[in-house]
Amino acid sequence: MASAFEYAPAPESRAVVDIAPSYGLFIDGEFTDAADGKVFKTVSPSTEEVLSEVAQAGAADVDRAVQAARKAFEKWSALPGSERAKYLFRIARIIQERSRELAVLETLDNGKPIKETRDADLPLVAAHFFYYAGWADKLDHAGFGRRTAEGHGGPRPLGVAGQIIPWNFPLLMLAWKIAPALATGNTVVLKPAETTPLSALFFADICRQAGLPKGVVNILTGYGDAGAALVEHPDVNKIAFTGSTAVGKAIARQVAGTDKKVTLELGGKGANIVFDDAPIDQAVEGIVTGIFFNQGQVCCAGSRLLVQESIQDELLDSLKRRLSTLRLGDPLDKNTDIGAINSAEQLARITALAETGEAEGAERWSAPCELPSSGYWFAPTLFTNVTQAHTIARDEIFGPVLSVLSFRTPDEAVAKANNSQYGLSAGIWTEKGSRILAVANKLRAGVVWANTFNKFDPTSPFGGYKESGFGREGGRHGLEAYLDVR
Ligand code: NAP
Ligand code: MG
Repeated sequence: MASAFEYAPAPESRAVVDIAPSYGLFIDGEFTDAADGKVFKTVSPSTEEVLSEVAQAGAADVDRAVQAARKAFEKWSALPGSERAKYLFRIARIIQERSRELAVLETLDNGKPIKETRDADLPLVAAHFFYYAGWADKLDHAGFGRRTAEGHGGPRPLGVAGQIIPWNFPLLMLAWKIAPALATGNTVVLKPAETTPLSALFFADICRQAGLPKGVVNILTGYGDAGAALVEHPDVNKIAFTGSTAVGKAIARQVAGTDKKVTLELGGKGANIVFDDAPIDQAVEGIVTGIFFNQGQVCCAGSRLLVQESIQDELLDSLKRRLSTLRLGDPLDKNTDIGAINSAEQLARITALAETGEAEGAERWSAPCELPSSGYWFAPTLFTNVTQAHTIARDEIFGPVLSVLSFRTPDEAVAKANNSQYGLSAGIWTEKGSRILAVANKLRAGVVWANTFNKFDPTSPFGGYKESGFGREGGRHGLEAYLDVR
């Protein structure tokens, strides 16, 4: 079975990366077929062209991968942190060196614009590995206690981490999961999402290139049932999941009563609050970034715009003008702003929710643009006349759809922003620093941006309140999710 991704230089074209017709699972340092020989196809959402066929992991493969990770844990966890750091730094550097290939591959498999994979995702992926590489030999100074000279106490790795990631940021979510796990001395079995398996397999190749010991990282491509088998496996010590709230709840039920540790990063319905003193042009850019970045398929998207009544008309006029300039189309074109929706299923979900918006009486406006004839596409859309009772104001759409609500006073803005089952992100646009602090203190959201949106940094913890999940990823706090603190 093929494994290596060959390099063929050509700017921003798919020829940058040579995708093999088939790929195996990555277990114990080798690419291998699934035990039952099953495979599935992965397609490019912008063309519906089949990109490759990958092995579909079943319970037997999960077991093999967990055993490999368990065996590798003995040696990996016993390495001095400074030695683990060397591998992580090496991986980070190879990611930088091969970032053109990775960006093209991710864009092909996911449908997101190359501008985003190249300028946002890949630099952050490398940054996460660099950041956690730096922690590997400093765990005794991370605030979780320290080992005595005799080697007692201090933070310890958990063991084998089962990691399940979604399709919206395949490589970045992989980095958020794998970098802190390895830095703290755990070994991992990671399952990428069904529709975006390729970049994780490319990463497996990078692990080999970096000389990472066998079994430290195992990658199982497959469906949700492989994820469920991983959650179920008795020799897995920790589950880290990013995805839908429904699956997150199912996982929480599945591990209840076991000694597995869990962190869940789930959905969101972020409020982006614009006060009447905000610089309108800047706010418009922030609203666009908040909900149209990655076609709105972002858990922390600013999908609810809360605008102060006195500036609503002016703001919406500017916003519509700006949305009319966005270019939708070929994700590999470096001028493209809006790429394809990740899958036919996701497009159907977005379409259905938008129709519900209209049926419930909200007013729909879509940017004028021609949708390509093949692939999965949805024009940037906003809804006005939205009330808090509307489905599109409550449910996560996970698409390029903005629900606009208005408010009169700061208290009303805070009440509306917090009126959600979710609590992942929020944004505040105002010239007044005192207002930023006062409002941010009252928002029940894991991350609050002020006069910006969707800005990420590996040093900053990320995670949710309420049904957006629990546990933090990123920063020093992100270490704790992979440590026994004693
Ligand atoms: P999902 O089903 O939660 O998928 C996330 C990951 O979990 C995938 O790797 C998936 O595998 C796996 N999985 C599915 N069922 C599982 C189970 N029972 N046990 C263990 N793992 C399981 O999300 P989705 O269906 O792709 O998207 C649905 C909605 O979830 C979206 O519309 C959006 O609202 C939300 N979502 C949120 C995020 C986020 O970042 N918070 C990310 C993605 C989606 P498969 O790929 O085989 O399903
Ligand atoms: Mg795909």
